[in-house]
Amino acid sequence: MDIETGRMQERISLELLQLNAATAESALSSGAAGLDPASVAAISRMNALRERQLTRGRKLGAALARIDAGTYGLCCQCEAEVDASLLEEDPAAVFCASCSAERDAR
Ligand SMILES: [Zn+2]
Repeated sequence: MDIETGRMQERISLELLQLNAATAESALSSGAAGLDPASVAAISRMNALRERQLTRGRKLGAALARIDAGTYGLCCQCEAEVDASLLEEDPAAVFCASCSAERDAR
């Protein structure tokens, strides 16, 4: 396997840190908003963003756990090696190219 897990671990940890900072920020700003329609819309956009951040955070956490377990870079579905280029693009990627194409098609 030609994936440098140490470097990926750094990238994932860094993204998690940035994500946690962003999540804390959005929690603060949504608490300060009023209840007029524009604010309600802003809050719901914020909640959608927060939801995505939480999902991303879980994915990144899972990727770190896989590095610890030694299963990082293996497809969660077929256990083939995930392309290094896919992991470059998204260090938290869990599916190989063919499995992720299959899932996208669903
Ligand atoms: Zn696969």
